[in-house]
Order: sequence, then C-alpha cells, then structure tokens
Amino acid sequence: AGKERPTYLEMHSDSPDKHLIEMIERDILESTPSVKWDDIADLTEAKSLLEEAVVLPLWMPDYFQGIRRPWKGVLMFGPPGTGKTMLAKAVATECKTTFFNVTTSTLASKWRGESERMVRILFDMARYYAPSTIFFDEIDSLASQRGGSGEHEASRRVKSELLVQMDGATASKADDDGDDGEEGGASKTVIVLAATNMPWDLDEALRRRLEKRIYIPLPTSVGREQLFRIAMREVGLGDDVELDELAKCTKGYSGADIANVCRDASMMSMRRVLENARKQGLSMREIQKMVQDQKEQPVTHKDFITAINKISRSVGESDLEKYRKWMETYGAS
Ligand code: ADP
Repeated sequence: AGKERPTYLEMHSDSPDKHLIEMIERDILESTPSVKWDDIADLTEAKSLLEEAVVLPLWMPDYFQGIRRPWKGVLMFGPPGTGKTMLAKAVATECKTTFFNVTTSTLASKWRGESERMVRILFDMARYYAPSTIFFDEIDSLASQRGGSGEHEASRRVKSELLVQMDGATASKADDDGDDGEEGGASKTVIVLAATNMPWDLDEALRRRLEKRIYIPLPTSVGREQLFRIAMREVGLGDDVELDELAKCTKGYSGADIANVCRDASMMSMRRVLENARKQGLSMREIQKMVQDQKEQPVTHKDFITAINKISRSVGESDLEKYRKWMETYGAS
C-alpha cells in the first residue's frame, strides 16, 4: 500500500538531517520482514500475549480505546538467542506493518551526538509509514540506569527523547492531524517493541513505559524438537534421527545454541569427504564434485550427537535464576 506516495526521504530532501534520514532508510528500515509465527518454535504463551497486546489492537483499533487503549510498549526479556528478534519480526510480518529494526550499534556509537535527533526522526518516519513497528534490540544498553551522575550527557538526552516519543506515539492517535484520505485508527499506529537480555539494567522511567513485560524462556523439550525440525527444513533429517533423544541431550540449550548444533552437524559429512579426499590426494576438482554429490545427504543421528558434544549451552542456571527473580518483581504479562 502507499507505493505511489513519495518516500520520507523525498519529502525531506532539503532537510539538514538528510544524512540521518538516509541512514535510517538504509540500516534500520526493513520494509518486508518475512518471519511467520510457524517459523518460531515453542513460545506459544509469548505469541498469544503479543497477539493480544499488538496484533489485535492493530486489527481492531476502535475496540482498543479508553481503558482498553493499547500498551505503550512491550518488553521481551530473557536469555539471549531465544527468539526475541524473531518474534518482533513475526509481529511486523503478521500485521503487515513497516518494520524498524533498531540495534544499539546503529543508534549509539556511530552517531554519537546525533542519536537524539535520530530518535525523533525515527518516530516521525514511523508515523509517516504507519502502521509501524519499531523494535529496539538490547534496549538496556540504550537506556541503562547505571549512568547516575557520571552518565554521558548525550546518552541521557537520547533516553529522554525516547521517553517523549514513546508517550507521543500512542497519543498521536487521538490528535489525528486530519490526513483525510486515511482510514484513521490503525493507519496511525506506531508500536514499540523492545528486547533485553539484561532487564535489571533497564532505566526505571523506560521500564514503566514498557508496560507489558513478557518473559521469553529457554525452549522446552517439545520446543527443542521443533527447533531441530525447523533448522533442518532444507537439508533434511536422516531416517535414524531420534528427535526426542536430541531434545533430551540439549536440555538448557537456547534456540540459537540448537541452530549452531544443526549448522555444525550438517557440515559433518562434508568434513568426512574432505578428510578422505586429502588422504587419497585427490585434486580440487574431484573434491568439489564429491562434496557436491553428498550435499543432498541427510544428517545422521551420530552427526548431531558429535555436534552436541562440541557445542555446550550458553545460558547458565544462575542466569535463569536472575530472570526468575526479576520476573517476580517486575514481570507484567
Ligand atoms: P534473541 O533476539 O532472543 O537474542 P534471535 O531471535 O535473534 O534471539 O534468535 C537467534 C537465532 O536463534 C535465530 O536466528 C534462530 O536461528 C534461532 N532461534 C532462537 N529461538 C528460536 C525459536 N523460538 N524458533 C526458531 N528459531 C529460533
């Protein structure tokens, strides 16, 4: 929709902030993320919470008014590599919203000094392309409470600009500035999603605006089976693979850990070919052909076990305990 409309950049071609606008359109704007709910293993509770907090208000803006107003922002917290970024992309895909994927590296370091203006432009652009989803990955590093008095003046300003914009993002629906052609409501909506592996570092003012806080846990045993299946969709699983057994051996692994295991396991047969070929002193061309020939071979159970023994879980029990504690105090799902 809106293909004929000029881009935000074209609208602001005389702006002194043109370089920032260009950067946002290039590095942050992802017009078509294509992650579907089914690409994400497990997390059924998180999916339905997000559905209620974000998807429904976009579909039925008239219902979500007054006391039912949508949440200002949704925080997903939990150990790294559990699908938080994927969930944000799935929300954007599912709702067909424009997707802004903000990582701290784009906001904080490279544009130090200008990041405050960038936050303002970001939200303005999101309203222009609305309905939009703005996703802040690692929001803690953008708005941590550590600063205190020693906090950089610049990062304090970024933080307060973010708060102002978040308050405005939901309010703007009420004072719709009369874009007559538009079908009010959802067309103006800007959703803020944020993720963090370190929720305890979050600034309090920001935490309050991220009203809905959803814990994204490590995958369950069923989830781990799904993760293997999803990761191996293209390459294929050998007939001898026992998924329940693999799920058992990977207790405590994150989704990203399992993706790593699958990547490693799927290269196992290539490594065997190479090793043999080297022993036989084959030429590069012959080796290429052999590798090509075995490309279609499904990955065996043993390959997975070997990979699991090489790659250990990245999240420890003590971390999990910290998340549980934080959820008890601040969780709001
Ligand atoms: P996070 O944002 O929580 O750190 P990501 O969403 O970036 O994690 O996931 C990292 C990678 O791990 C993904 O690209 C995917 O390969 C895998 N992954 C993690 N969780 C899941 C999940 N629930 N379903 C499918 N893949 C997952």
